[in-house]
Amino acid sequence: HSNASAYKPAVLPPRVMLQQFNDFIKYIVEVVGSDNVDVITSKDMLDDGSYEKPTYTHDPHYVLEQDFFLASAVVAPRTVSEVQKIVRAANDVSIPLWPISIGRNSGYGGAAPRVSGSVVLNMGKNMNKILEVNVDGAYCVVEPGVSFMDMHEYLVEYNLRDKLWVDVPDLGGGSILGNTLERGVGYTPYGDHWMMHSGMEVVLPTGELLRTGMGALPEPRRPETMGLRPEDQPWNKTAQLFPYGFGPYVDGLFSQSNLGIVTKLGMWLFPNPGGYQSYLITIPRDEDLKQAVDIIRPLRLSMVMQNVPTLRHILLDAAVLGSKAQYSSKIEPLSDDDMDEIAKKLNLGRWNFYGALYGPEPIRNAMWSVIQQCFSAIPGVKFYFPEDTAENSVLRVRHKTLQGIPTFDELKWIDWVPNGAHLFFSPIAKCAGEDAMMQYAITKKRCREAGLDFLGTFTIGMREMHHIVCIVFNKKSAEDKKKAHWLIRTLIDDCAARGWGEYRTHLAVMDQIMGTYSWNDSVLLKFNEVLKNAIDPNGIIAPGKSGVWPKQYDKREWKL
Ligand code: ADP
Repeated sequence: HSNASAYKPAVLPPRVMLQQFNDFIKYIVEVVGSDNVDVITSKDMLDDGSYEKPTYTHDPHYVLEQDFFLASAVVAPRTVSEVQKIVRAANDVSIPLWPISIGRNSGYGGAAPRVSGSVVLNMGKNMNKILEVNVDGAYCVVEPGVSFMDMHEYLVEYNLRDKLWVDVPDLGGGSILGNTLERGVGYTPYGDHWMMHSGMEVVLPTGELLRTGMGALPEPRRPETMGLRPEDQPWNKTAQLFPYGFGPYVDGLFSQSNLGIVTKLGMWLFPNPGGYQSYLITIPRDEDLKQAVDIIRPLRLSMVMQNVPTLRHILLDAAVLGSKAQYSSKIEPLSDDDMDEIAKKLNLGRWNFYGALYGPEPIRNAMWSVIQQCFSAIPGVKFYFPEDTAENSVLRVRHKTLQGIPTFDELKWIDWVPNGAHLFFSPIAKCAGEDAMMQYAITKKRCREAGLDFLGTFTIGMREMHHIVCIVFNKKSAEDKKKAHWLIRTLIDDCAARGWGEYRTHLAVMDQIMGTYSWNDSVLLKFNEVLKNAIDPNGIIAPGKSGVWPKQYDKREWKL
């Protein structure tokens, strides 16, 4: 712990002297209290923690060395004004700050900063309140530390589930605010989290406080709100109802970015649809992927498919139910025959499509008959409701997820191999059979070359698919990590060469991916750099995030 008079971090921020760091930390201790400051003094005692108890110092799913991305200190502010004080002090000495909300961000770097020696700002530890749940407007306002599970439990506790559901991702422990900023997805009709947010409050790199959208319009003052600090003032009544406000829409600048620290977020909740039925369609052959995706596209576009459904590869489902060793003694990638055998054993297809129907029974029945009829064009497909499947089936888990009940079962697939860790490779694909087949063929082939199994899923958006390839590796094996790193780097270039780009990524490949978004002489990156330098002149907020570097850093030197 950090109450010694001198703070000596294992790694200092770039160009910062120990004395400056010490003065900064001493001041920060005064601001947030010593309980909310941890200086990381040794590289030898890094604890990877667990999903339940995440670490804030480094990435527990390290694909490089464990301490490659390492914090100098972890600081947890308690209020907006403390965040402003920290930001102002960081400006004085150019200390890089890396804001996180809960810090799980599994597969994308956890809480670790891109620049070692950054001070990780643990926004969620103390700022974790559900500020409002508005039933008539079907929205909530949350602080960074509110997880999907917290929101769900709130709805249960206050008997609101019959009115409102919260959309949840595969795992319930992440921050609603953090996940939305990263443009993460869930699986109800409100699966596109970014699309469903309305109104954000942001501490800018100068320390000023901004509310976006209709939040910029002051709510008329009443006697009881006179004299309140800006962050405590009530929001404009329409801030969570209409996201855009007036003038340039700036919300996007704070997502996957390094231009501010978000302190509050408005989020739409899904009105209970008055009826629900999850389903599974098993699709027997590998090559049926093509036909399945072409069946899905018009159904999803026309909203006969109401939610964000997923088309999952057999090994992803198999991995939720057991480790590789439980299926096979092979170390090398499993063969087609192995996979057929596993599918048979689990009563699944080579691809498995998980969706849900929402609304009163006559509506569900109508939708279901259309979906069944369309899928029946594929020979050998089978249709299931949860009660038709085994006690521990993936459908029974998805049954919860697709109605906004958070679960933790999907954590299991990380244990496919011993000392399992994972990286996500997440390219966007056109929702078309041919494109899906091409993207699948390339990723599968490269996985084989790397000696790793292909575990993946296509998450169906409105018109595209987030193809999520789960690269699972043994983090205690240098060999395995090298393979995983080679695999993701190779896939990024392979895909870019075919016009496919990733929607989100791990710290280790942010520069490479930003480099692929290079249309017209990389004007997107240049534009982002202009903004970065204007809005954050000392380059203190999350340098390197998404491959955007402030002028204080020589990006060629930092490039990974
Ligand atoms: P999770 O919700 O999975 O626990 P994190 O809390 O780690 O995820 O957030 C994921 C990423 O989102 C962070 O690495 C950071 O880039 C960004 N982020 C999270 N919270 C904030 C915030 N309050 N302000 C600015 N950026 C944030």
